[in-house]
Amino acid sequence: MAQSTSDPAPLTCYRHPDRESMLRCSRCERPICSECAVLTPTGYRCKECIRGQQKAFETALTIDYPVAFVLAGILAFGGSLIASAMGFFTIFIAPLVGIIIAEVVRWAVRKRRAPQLFRLAAAGAALGGAPLLLIRLIGTIAALASGAGIGGILGIIWLALYVFLVTSTVYYRLSGIKLR
Ligand SMILES: [Zn+2]
Ligand SMILES: [Zn+2]
Repeated sequence: MAQSTSDPAPLTCYRHPDRESMLRCSRCERPICSECAVLTPTGYRCKECIRGQQKAFETALTIDYPVAFVLAGILAFGGSLIASAMGFFTIFIAPLVGIIIAEVVRWAVRKRRAPQLFRLAAAGAALGGAPLLLIRLIGTIAALASGAGIGGILGIIWLALYVFLVTSTVYYRLSGIKLR
C-alpha cells in the first residue's frame, strides 16, 4: 500500500522481480510486467486484482441458489393464475409480476449476486409459469380433438407471452439491466 514518491531505481514486476516494469496496475498501483498486465476498460490491471474483482462481484452463497429458484417458481406460478384470467392485460401484468419476483428474490438473498444466481431465478420463473401453460395446452388439444373449436388458443398465446415476459423481466432486472 505504502508508496515512496522518490524511487530512482527501475521498477520491477511484483510477481517477476527479475523483469523491469513499464506499467502499473490501475487498481493496486503495483508495477507489473507486460505478461502480468491485463487490459481492462479502466486501464491495465494485475491478475490478482482481476481475480479479486470477480470474487467481489460473485457474493452469492450456496443457499441463495435454491432460494432464488424456488421463490421465483412459486411466485411465477401464482402470477400465471392471475394472468390466465387477464387475457390481453397479461401484457401489463407479466412485467409487473417479473419485477415483483426480482425484488422478492433480491430481498431473500440479501442483495447477494452472481450471474448464475440470476439465471437460476429466471429458470425458476419459467418453470413456475409452465404448468398452467401445459394444462391449457393439453386442454385445448383435447377440445380440438373432440371438435369443440379453437377457442382456447388465444389463452395459450397469452400464457406463453406471460412466461416469456416474466422470465426475461426477472433476468434483466436482477442482472441490473433496467427494462422500463
Ligand atoms: Zn493490481
Ligand atoms: Zn510479471
